[in-house]
Amino acid sequence: MKSGVCLSLSSLVDAGSALIYMFIQHVLIFLFKWPPPPGPEYPKSPKGRIAIIGAGVTGISSAAHAIAHGFDVVIYEQSDTVGGVWTRVNETSGLQINSLLYRFHPAVLWSSSFPSRDEVVHQVRKIWEEYHLEPRTRFNTPVKSVRRVKGTGLPPHGDPSSPRSRWIINDGEDGIFDAVVATWIIPRNVVVGALIAGQPAGREWPIWLTWQKVITWWNYRDVPELVPARIGLFETTPIVNDEFAKVVKSGKCRYVRGDIVRFTNGGVRVKVRRRQEKPGEGKAEREYAGDLVVLATGFKRPPFDFFQDELFPKGYDGPNLYLQGFSTEDWSVLTTNATFQHGMGSVGHVHIGIYMRILFTFLMDTKTRPTRQEMKLWVDIVRFIKRDAPGGAFSFFTYTELSASLVVHFGFL
Ligand SMILES: Cc1cc2nc3c(=O)[nH]c(=O)nc-3n(C[C@H](O)[C@H](O)[C@H](O)COP(=O)(O)OP(=O)(O)OC[C@H]3O[C@@H](n4cnc5c(N)ncnc54)[C@H](O)[C@@H]3O)c2cc1C
Repeated sequence: MKSGVCLSLSSLVDAGSALIYMFIQHVLIFLFKWPPPPGPEYPKSPKGRIAIIGAGVTGISSAAHAIAHGFDVVIYEQSDTVGGVWTRVNETSGLQINSLLYRFHPAVLWSSSFPSRDEVVHQVRKIWEEYHLEPRTRFNTPVKSVRRVKGTGLPPHGDPSSPRSRWIINDGEDGIFDAVVATWIIPRNVVVGALIAGQPAGREWPIWLTWQKVITWWNYRDVPELVPARIGLFETTPIVNDEFAKVVKSGKCRYVRGDIVRFTNGGVRVKVRRRQEKPGEGKAEREYAGDLVVLATGFKRPPFDFFQDELFPKGYDGPNLYLQGFSTEDWSVLTTNATFQHGMGSVGHVHIGIYMRILFTFLMDTKTRPTRQEMKLWVDIVRFIKRDAPGGAFSFFTYTELSASLVVHFGFL
């Protein structure tokens, strides 16, 4: 009887949370969703043309923001479908962070906190269709070159109001563009993620060492053997998936640190490492029995070689970009999420829309356009502020840092 009462109480709590979750999402949609254009023929007199490279979460969201604000877009996608990396994983794959932090566009409506692959792809497709992006998408079209139209472009030390760059993609079959946006990323307990993402200055003040200890204790309290021995939390993208830690703790899964020697008929041979040992330093070889091998080795970042080198000179190449997104040589080249290395935040949160709005502002208001010197100065200032950051000034950043940069930027506009 007691357990029956408990069960119905917990079902009630679950149902209540689901309702609250839906309510919050509808409020966000009501407040932030920009209406789609009334038909595919809109905008009839576009404010500008923007080439978007990539039809993943970032590309589709960027394109939907653009079209809703009166800019025309062409989306270039090398594969034959929308959804990016989510279309290349198995159906049991799901979000690592709470979907409330993964609202890659204001129109997104999630059914649960951790939706799986099909739902993510469905949401991307929904926005793609709703914002009439279908006829504007070129599938099976890898971008191989992005060239500046001769005679256009910012003069080296010029006045930002002088003629701006125009761009040709591949052989120019889609005409001339006013801006280019490259869009992709490589990829977590919402509490730990939020704590790390809350680091405002990206460098290790003494207080952060204490904070790092607190976060480490919280995240790995039952599985101390998982704590990295040499890498700080603010150096590489941390794994803060508490479900994984729970599975290890429960004994359902054993975590072995080591280097694979070879697969065998019965499993896998591994050179086992102790926590302090670096890759390749393990000596003891052991064989682990297994029926199935899952290679969870991550994704390779797509190359960036279609841009002219001059857009990303040494020292100001990714991720050392203006506001961590714009080429310091030309504000009309934006790389949302595409130069990201390590950090903590969320790919698809509000920043995609903010970056697009900054680009729209540059396109529409000559007074807001930064010069090369100003963009480089911004990079240099951040490098100075974060000079002691163990992960590098731009190699590791948090969502709070990014948000602070964007807020400061708007303050100066
Ligand atoms: C199982 C799984 C769980 C994840 N969970 C999270 C999470 O919880 N939180 C989080 O923040 N992130 C997570 N991620 C990371 C995920 O990669 C991003 O959230 C997001 O999907 C990336 O979208 P994107 O559009 O930036 O890049 P992609 O999905 O990689 O899309 C880029 C697109 O660009 C195309 N492209 C590349 N080069 C060219 C070219 N030269 N020309 C034309 N097209 C090109 C590619 O074909 C691709 O379609 C997860 C990823 C996976 C696989």
